[in-house]
Amino acid sequence: APAEVPQVVVDAHGLPYLDKRLPVKKRVADLLGRMTLEEKAGQMTQAERNALRSQGDIASYRLGSLLSGGGSVPTPNTPEAWAKMIDAYQLRARATRFQIPLIYGVDAVHGHNNVIGATIMPHNIGIGAGRDPKVAERTGAVTAKEVRATGIPWDFAPCVCVTRDERWGRSYEAFGEDPALVKAMETVIDGMQGARDGSDLDRNDKVLTSAKHFVGDGGTEFGSSTTGSYTIDQGVTRVTRQELEAVHLAPFAEAVKRGAGTVMPSYSSLDIIGDDKGPVKMHANAEMINGVLKDRMGFEGFVISDWQAIDQIPGDYASDVRTSVNAGLDMIMVPTNYQDFTRILAEEVTAGRVSRARVDDAVARILTQKFRLGLFEKPYADTTHLDSVGSAAHRAVAREAVAKSQVLLKNDGGVLPLKKSQKVYVAGSNADDLGNQAGGWTISWQGSSGRNTTGTTILEGMRKAAPDATVDYSKDASAATEGYDVGVVVVGETPYAEGIGDVGNGHDLELTAADKAAVDKVCAAMPCAVLVVSGRPQLIGDRLGAIDALVASWLPGTEGDGVADVLYGARPFTGQLPVTWPKSEAQLPINVGDASYDPQFPFGWGLTTRPVPQAGGELTLKAIGVAAKVLQAAGRGTSPEGRELLSRARDVVQKRIGQDITPATAKPFAEADRLLLSGDLTGAVARLTAAYRAA
Ligand code: BGC
Repeated sequence: APAEVPQVVVDAHGLPYLDKRLPVKKRVADLLGRMTLEEKAGQMTQAERNALRSQGDIASYRLGSLLSGGGSVPTPNTPEAWAKMIDAYQLRARATRFQIPLIYGVDAVHGHNNVIGATIMPHNIGIGAGRDPKVAERTGAVTAKEVRATGIPWDFAPCVCVTRDERWGRSYEAFGEDPALVKAMETVIDGMQGARDGSDLDRNDKVLTSAKHFVGDGGTEFGSSTTGSYTIDQGVTRVTRQELEAVHLAPFAEAVKRGAGTVMPSYSSLDIIGDDKGPVKMHANAEMINGVLKDRMGFEGFVISDWQAIDQIPGDYASDVRTSVNAGLDMIMVPTNYQDFTRILAEEVTAGRVSRARVDDAVARILTQKFRLGLFEKPYADTTHLDSVGSAAHRAVAREAVAKSQVLLKNDGGVLPLKKSQKVYVAGSNADDLGNQAGGWTISWQGSSGRNTTGTTILEGMRKAAPDATVDYSKDASAATEGYDVGVVVVGETPYAEGIGDVGNGHDLELTAADKAAVDKVCAAMPCAVLVVSGRPQLIGDRLGAIDALVASWLPGTEGDGVADVLYGARPFTGQLPVTWPKSEAQLPINVGDASYDPQFPFGWGLTTRPVPQAGGELTLKAIGVAAKVLQAAGRGTSPEGRELLSRARDVVQKRIGQDITPATAKPFAEADRLLLSGDLTGAVARLTAAYRAA
């Protein structure tokens, strides 16, 4: 057992590390030089708050960090209660001789999603569909402000995963399937942390981020396990070194560039084709963590393990601890048996199996972030912005992000936007379900159906948008369908987190029988728009023919008003597919860049509800090509003007392609988008022109 904590706290004041005027480096060196091995081991330990045997253990074991896993919430689950809870833990941490504050972490992966009443953003896949780096940054800033206001300085977000197979239950945590798209959305890190040198981190509206999960979490293979079980979550990513670099490592290089304060390794294993090592658990992967992340990319933050992930490394626990720390992990999310962890880590060091230099490096990295966050000066919650949690201003930011995230896949006969004079029939499982539209990681880890927090459902948003219109609703379309101008059927998934997703829906991408029946009934009776509220594409198949308008709504979060905005034309549809929309499950995995590519809708697809240039298409494209050259020459290919230009070209081409999406049109179309994202505007216009000619 650790030595008793003295009852009377030694007054640490006067020691150099407490002097705010000194550079962080000096403060770290001073404090580190005073600490015992046990104190250092404690700093490297993160426990789950519910696993604490007593709050006194925070001081007894000199814990460096606590977390709330998904759903580990205070009672009552209010912003005030969160702030008080964190303060109580912090008080304990300060009852140690150096008064080193805790760094508390939560998963705020789409807004401050553990707290009832907070603003819930669209999940990342919707942000990726929005394609707007400024919007992504704003959602990050709002999230950070709400999180920090409740006393929490650290967010296990964003996931910078590149999802390559939508059978993965975390597909919605990814911005998309293309690394350039993921990189473009990493402005969310700027929104959360502020300045890239970390100088804003002590502000009361910024948090430390965690780029996760390093590396290849979105590239795991499906169904390759010898046991026959699905391995796509926490499985093996088998890639060439070239693919690893271009697809999976690139977003981490970007995160490092933007100054992400921490990185979380992936549960998955990495198997690099051609190097004969076989799959290596990422938490044991020294080549990647020490070698690539820290040495080559120059990552200066600290590496936090995933939940109990070191336990999955082959060997006993002592070997797990040794292997992971030697591979470059700086803090371990233990999260339950912190007593054994701190003891074993200290033993490994005493025995010389983990070097003192490695421990000093890890602790220095952790302390550096604590100093930067200003936790030594202000360990307790600064609740100045507590009223901003779920505020109208924050919800307006989310609402804009929602509107931007909506992807119009088909719009025959101009069914959308709706007119306020129309009599509308609404149906489907996700039309009036706040929990379903928020998805997993909402209040609880797995999320839940029904009204689990405050917000507006899509149906409520529609009724607000057209207060004088008749907007009738029958979830299962069991009411009479005569006499309506238009039907809106909102189908999709129920919430899930991690794993392979949507257990109630049979793991696959099929719509439920009830949703299919609602679509069939409504679309047979009237012109209809189908909205798919889901964390990934759902299979529409041949049913597409009977559907007039199809919208990918993703998981919009609490602001159904944003969906209503585009439905009723208050804002135009501008979203684009962040992942390829497959025709069938047999096509998976399907991604832009595949040699053969025959999707239902290609990557980048997304109609707009603004007027499309009428002039002869080929002519318009030529003019756009000339303008593109000028912009590109000025180095402004990916500027808002460049993106606008390409979007005009896309309008022309999509109009021409119509329903004639074939490999010949889909491939160049999708590639155009990829080229734009990587800065090649003229190349992008050329690919669109090729798609136009193929149509
Ligand atoms: C997830 C991480 C998350 C952690 C802490 C794990 O199950 O893989 O993404 O940050 O839990 O809640």
